[in-house]
Amino acid sequence: MAPTDTGIREAQLSRDEMLRYSRHLVLPEVALDGQRRIKAARVLLVGAGGLGSPAALYLAAAGVGTLGIVDFDVVDVTNLHRQVLHGTSAVGMPKLDSARERITDLNPHVHVETYEERLTSENALDILRDYDMVVDGTDNFATRYLVNDACVLLGKPNVYGSIFRFDGQASVFCMPDGPCYRCLFPEPPPPGSIPSCAEGGVLGVLPGLVGTIQATEALKLIVGAGDPLVGRLLLVDALGMRFHTVRVDRDPACPACGTHEITELIDYDAYCGAPAATDADRAIAEITPRELAERLRNGGGSFDLIDVREPYEWNIARLPGARLIPLGSVPAVMASLDPSREVILYCRSGVRSADAARQLQGAGFHVSNLAGGILRWSDDVDPTTPKY
Ligand SMILES: [Zn+2]
Repeated sequence: MAPTDTGIREAQLSRDEMLRYSRHLVLPEVALDGQRRIKAARVLLVGAGGLGSPAALYLAAAGVGTLGIVDFDVVDVTNLHRQVLHGTSAVGMPKLDSARERITDLNPHVHVETYEERLTSENALDILRDYDMVVDGTDNFATRYLVNDACVLLGKPNVYGSIFRFDGQASVFCMPDGPCYRCLFPEPPPPGSIPSCAEGGVLGVLPGLVGTIQATEALKLIVGAGDPLVGRLLLVDALGMRFHTVRVDRDPACPACGTHEITELIDYDAYCGAPAATDADRAIAEITPRELAERLRNGGGSFDLIDVREPYEWNIARLPGARLIPLGSVPAVMASLDPSREVILYCRSGVRSADAARQLQGAGFHVSNLAGGILRWSDDVDPTTPKY
């Protein structure tokens, strides 16, 4: 008997499919019954990015009958170092179109259902309801809490993965006897405290490792084989090449799966304090790259231009007349800055410099943040400035 009954029934296989999946059919843990369950399964992938790419490819190759994909993004050239579902020829194309094309080529027996929209509190329950489980490949906390709460409300397994730089995590939440994401992380981190992969970077192969683990767990749940990552959080350290699991218990006080206080989906952007929506952000003055270029042309002596990125980024590209103070050093260096002078801050995209601007503004400095950072500077002022 399967350790967890997902309620998935079986579908008949054609001769072509028998041949295609023959290496599964000879595995006693999968065999014909398991492969029929895989064909009958409906798996929803939230995100067709770094984690969703390997998960989609392996689940499609394995013969999952219906793959739903939620994504509203367009393939960008900076995606390609890790999002192996998409090719260079797909740059500029919606990720869903690119995903459908690749999956259909890989396995025409897979039915792909696409949702070209952001997963929200309004649509999540309707979209998730028709699936047996969710593979969470999101890259932000608001959507992660949304996916989790929707899975708890609907009683669907949530196959979780996340990545940052060289570290990854995976687990299976929302199973009948296991914890949910909220049991592990009762509160979202303070907004802006954890940089995104765009800001902090990620080793290209890392989502390959973690997304493949998610696909493995999804397949195990479908066929009912093995020991799923329920009540365990797998920690992947790619630099040290160490895999650890830590026990995660269900929290009886968890408002989602414990006390069931959460009876409907909430406003997750507000809950996680989406940075763009806070008063602190609005209060920071912005300067556009063109305005900054104009002021630099006019001498630039009236303000300090501070780059809050890391030294290795400084070596890739920098703005004329800037001084490097990495974000982590801002509190220590603050005392050496002249509070009577205006400070203009920048980073790669404007997120870290907004954080530094808040710190300096809080200390009484007159600050402005360069909107869009080096990236927009390259677009609007100097195309020879490398983007990365
Ligand atoms: Zn919980």
